[in-house]
Amino acid sequence: HDPAPPEAFTLTPIGRIVSDYPDKFGIPRQPGLAPEARGRLELLAPFDDPLTVRGLEDVSHLWLTFLFHRSPERWTPLVRPPRLGGNARIGVFATRSTHRPNRLGLSLVELAGIDTRNGVCLHLRGHDLVDGTPVLDIKPYLPWAESPPAARAGFAPAPPVRLPVRFSDRAAGQLAERADGESLHRLIAQVLAQDPRPAYRRGAEARRYGVPLRDVDVRFRAVADADGGGVALEVLE
Ligand code: SAM
Repeated sequence: HDPAPPEAFTLTPIGRIVSDYPDKFGIPRQPGLAPEARGRLELLAPFDDPLTVRGLEDVSHLWLTFLFHRSPERWTPLVRPPRLGGNARIGVFATRSTHRPNRLGLSLVELAGIDTRNGVCLHLRGHDLVDGTPVLDIKPYLPWAESPPAARAGFAPAPPVRLPVRFSDRAAGQLAERADGESLHRLIAQVLAQDPRPAYRRGAEARRYGVPLRDVDVRFRAVADADGGGVALEVLE
């Protein structure tokens, strides 16, 4: 698919994300799945005029349109959603895949605060954006218009199943020494419960993984879950 659009537009980022997620790996696949995820949207000149956000203080949630800047420009008509095990193919426009024409992303995020002391900085919670993501637009979420009770969501009708997450004594001790230990503990638990491993890795395995969160590399592995007969993720350090 050679890019030959009938007409091209130029978009200018209005801001950039500073995120708890330094890397794509491990980020939940939709916003709201890790409510503890913190981030800031720092507006860029000339959009950083406090007038642009006047009235936003009464809004709880925002739609962010952004660029999947860490995805390739290459796209294909069919993609393999991790939700379907990574094998079944489905039309790109039937998915929220990051590999899509124009690379536009759309996330509903909680607005936790607004700081206009030095430019404009919006404090966000529960987002799914990697550090440095260019944001193209902000709009207030309208629950009465944008949450139809009878909506159907195709192959992803409900939130993904969560895995149990355990912390080794070593990991718990390391968290206890940090000022943000409790918040980081919650963030790790929420992120790992989504099972960041590739879709084809389902069971317990010896392999160790690392997910970067804030300034730490969280090491974990999959272990047999004594309670349910399934798999749990254990945070090693
Ligand atoms: N909620 C958005 C949407 O529906 O357009 C994103 C959904 S996409 C399936 C979520 C994944 O995008 C995350 O798991 C993360 O790995 C990835 N991601 C987040 N920010 C990105 C960026 N700037 N460039 C490329 N991938 C990104």
